[in-house]
Amino acid sequence: MKVTEHINNAKKTLFSFEILPPLKGQNIETLFSNIEPLMEFKPPFIDVTYHREEYVYHDKGNGLLEKRTTRKRPGTVGICAAIKNRFDIDTVPHIICGGFSKEETENALIDLDFLGIDSVLILRGDPIKSESKFIPDPNGHTYAIELLEQVVQMNQGKYLDEDLKDASHSNFCMGVAGYPEKHFEAPSMKSDIKILKKKVEAGAEYVVTQMFFDNQKYFEFVETCRKEGINVPIIPGLKPITSLRQMSALPRTFFLDLPDALVDELEKCKTNEAAKEVGIDWCVQQSKELIEFGTPCLHYYSMGKSDPIYRIAERVF
Ligand code: FAD
Repeated sequence: MKVTEHINNAKKTLFSFEILPPLKGQNIETLFSNIEPLMEFKPPFIDVTYHREEYVYHDKGNGLLEKRTTRKRPGTVGICAAIKNRFDIDTVPHIICGGFSKEETENALIDLDFLGIDSVLILRGDPIKSESKFIPDPNGHTYAIELLEQVVQMNQGKYLDEDLKDASHSNFCMGVAGYPEKHFEAPSMKSDIKILKKKVEAGAEYVVTQMFFDNQKYFEFVETCRKEGINVPIIPGLKPITSLRQMSALPRTFFLDLPDALVDELEKCKTNEAAKEVGIDWCVQQSKELIEFGTPCLHYYSMGKSDPIYRIAERVF
């Protein structure tokens, strides 16, 4: 079932979460055992991210840089199918512009359609470490909206290089990203929301937000979106802080602010364990307030660790 169908059928706020494909050398059973406990909270769908990674190979003899290359982290498509098969729930692969030619995107979408995947989250992807700004694949897309337009075309049976009659076609439900604290490259909140509106007008059916720690920012974002005529579900993305390091790493990586009250509590912590307790408590409070606000679904960023999400879900759902 599509994400929007799950939302429309829901009688209460839904629980969902996002996982990352494991690094090379790890196996699917580890991933299964990690997410299995979260099945207790009946997630209607699980997101699986897609990543482009950079590899630097050194000359083993003299240590000089030999080769810098990128590749896509494997696993997203296979994991989506494996989870669907194992737990009988829907999976939502993320599809990204970065590192993909339009042909590779088309092939991936055909595979996803064959696998019975009903929804995709459509993103540009972040620049890799050595890029100061996002560089698209030479035959790829520069912005998420272009990738979205390709999915729209495929949903209409229009493929890249063939004029097929009566072609079998996908019917993906399309989600996109939204930023309650603005995307870091956007010159202003207004211009960022204008882009979001264009994505919705082009066919996006729901939005998942970047993580935030101050619900007020989400409430204001939703209000502005509604005023601008963006009327699709806006699913809040939440992540509990689980270590002291994240106090600076999360704002630096995701271009967001932590509220003073949260920082005050974290500054009292002497250990990562203590910081994790503060992070979980904070996320529980955020979740409860968001449910009261009437959000359709809470979407947790697990970042490969399900234990904090379990501890939040058992207090919230
Ligand atoms: P876009 O919508 O393309 O926007 C990027 C920037 O360009 C914005 O500043 C926007 O305002 C501007 N812009 C957009 N269109 C235009 C236009 N036509 N003209 C001028 N300016 C424009 N990254 C991954 O690599 N893998 C993942 O799996 C992944 N999952 C994510 C899930 C969520 C819920 C979120 C919020 C982010 C995720 N990201 C992921 C990170 C995301 O790829 C980055 O935030 C990226 O920098 C922007 O992606 P976007 O889809 O918002 O891009």
